[in-house]
Amino acid sequence: MARNELIIWGIGLTELEAQAIRRAADGRARLVTWNSETLPDSEALDCDEPFLVLATWGAWGRASRAVPVLEGVTRAVILSETATAEDVQSATASGADAVLRLPIEQERVRAVVERAISVRRLYEDIFRMTQEIVLERELLSRKNEQLKFINRFLARAAESMDTVELLGIAQDELSKLLDITALHACIWGPSSEEVFEAELYLAENLSASAQQGWSSLLLDSAASLNGICLKDYRIVSLPTTGRTINPPSKGKTIILPLKAAGEIFGCIGIAGPKNYSLGRDQVELMNSAVSHLGLALRNAVLFSEARNEADYDGLTMIHNRRSFERRLKEELMRHQRYGHTMSLLLLDIDHFKAINDTYGHLAGDAVLAAVARTIRSAVRTCDYPARYGGEEFVIILPQTSAMQANILGERLRREIANLGFTEEGASFHVTASIGIADINPESHITSPQLVRRADRALYAAKNRGRNRVMVAAADEQCPSAAAMH
Ligand code: GH3
Ligand code: MG
Ligand code: MG
Repeated sequence: MARNELIIWGIGLTELEAQAIRRAADGRARLVTWNSETLPDSEALDCDEPFLVLATWGAWGRASRAVPVLEGVTRAVILSETATAEDVQSATASGADAVLRLPIEQERVRAVVERAISVRRLYEDIFRMTQEIVLERELLSRKNEQLKFINRFLARAAESMDTVELLGIAQDELSKLLDITALHACIWGPSSEEVFEAELYLAENLSASAQQGWSSLLLDSAASLNGICLKDYRIVSLPTTGRTINPPSKGKTIILPLKAAGEIFGCIGIAGPKNYSLGRDQVELMNSAVSHLGLALRNAVLFSEARNEADYDGLTMIHNRRSFERRLKEELMRHQRYGHTMSLLLLDIDHFKAINDTYGHLAGDAVLAAVARTIRSAVRTCDYPARYGGEEFVIILPQTSAMQANILGERLRREIANLGFTEEGASFHVTASIGIADINPESHITSPQLVRRADRALYAAKNRGRNRVMVAAADEQCPSAAAMH
C-alpha cells in the first residue's frame, strides 16, 4: 500500500458511474468501489484510507453511518436526475460536503476531486505542523526540566564550601539523573608543586576489595588525566547511600574529570548497579553538572587552603598565635563550665639569638621547624600546639593537671636537648625552658592571666639556669582570690 496514493471510495455506484468517475479522476486517484451491502470497515480504513468518499443517494444513509467522519476526507453524495433543491439541502444537512447529480458530468466530478485533494493537502499540512508543535513542546518541557535540574544543582552547590558536603550534594542530585550506588572522587594538589598529594574521597564502610579497587581506579585515572603520579594520598570518608558498593567494573563505572580554569585538578568516579547506557541529554546534563561541581569544589579547596594558611604558621606548620588565642578562650570556657582542669605549657628556646648569630638565620629556622616537629609528635591529638611568637611555643593541654603537664614538659625538654643539628660542618644542640600553669576549675581566670602565669613559670626556669621545666605555684592560681584572704 502506497501511503501517498490517493484513493476514492465509491459506494453504491453502478459500473457505468464508476467508469465515469475513473475517467474524471484522470489517473490522479484510484477508485475503490463498495456496494451498499458490503460497506467498508475500520480495517479497510486502515489500509486504504480515502481522501474522497462518493456515495449514491441510495447508499448514503448507511454509508454516512458506517464511514466515520474523518478529518481531511471529503464526503460527496451523488443525487438522482430528479433530485430537488430540498434533496440537496437534506444531503448537506446530513453531512455531505459536496453534491453531484446524475448523469455524471466530468467537469463537475473533476472539480470535486480537485477540491478534495486540496482539502487533503491542507489537512496534511496542518497535521504535520501540529506534530511539529507537539514535538517542540516536548523538547521545551525537557529543556525546562534540564534547566531546573542545573539550577537546583547550582543553588545547592553554592550553599557549601565543604568538599565532603559538595560531593554528597553531587551524589544526591546526579542520582535523579541516573542510577548511582556511589560517587567517589580524587582531588589533587596544585600542579606547581613537584610532589602531588591527593585526597581520595571514598564512601565509608567500603569492603577491603572495593576500597582497593576504587583507590587504584581513581589514582590511575588521575595519572592518565593529568599525566601525574600521585605520591601520597589521604582517604576522606563520604557518607554512603546505604547500597552495596562493589569494586569498579567496566560498563558500570563512569569517570569524569573535575576542571576549573582549564586545569584538571581531580576526577569523580560514579558507580552504578547495572551497565550504563546513557542518552545524549543525560550525558550533556551530567557533563554540565560536573563542570559546575568542578568550580564549586575548586572554590571549597581554595577556601580551606586559605583558612589553613590563616590558622597555621608557615615555617613550623603548627597553629599560629591568632588561632591559639581563639582556641584558648574556647577551651577555658569549656573547662570552667564542666569543672575540669587543664594546663598551658609555654616553651622558649634557650639562647636562640646566639644560634642565629653563630649559624645564621636559616639554621635558626631549621631549629624552629625541628622543635615544632618534636612538639607535634609528642602531643596527643586533643592537645593544641601553636607557635606563640619568635622562638616561643605554647601547648593547650585539655583535661591535664600541672603534674601530668610536667611529665610531658620533661619529656619534651629531653627530646629537644637530644636533637642534633649540623651547619657547615659544625654540629650543635639546643635546649629549651618550659613554664607550666594549670587552672583551678572553680576560678574565673582569663586567658591572658593564664598565659601570664605560665610565662612567669618560664621566666623562673630561665632564671634558674634554663633547660628546665617549672610549674606555676598553686598559690598563684587565682590572684583575686588570694587577695581576699
Ligand atoms: P633566652 O634563652 O633568654 O630565651 O635567649 P634568646 O636568645 O632565646 O632570647 P631573645 O628573646 O633575646 O632572642 C630571640 C631571638 O629569636 C631573636 C630573634 O632574632 C630570633 N627569632 C625570632 N623569630 C625568628 C625566626 O622566625 N627565625 C629565626 N631564625 N630567628 C627568629
Ligand atoms: Mg623568647
Ligand atoms: Mg629564647
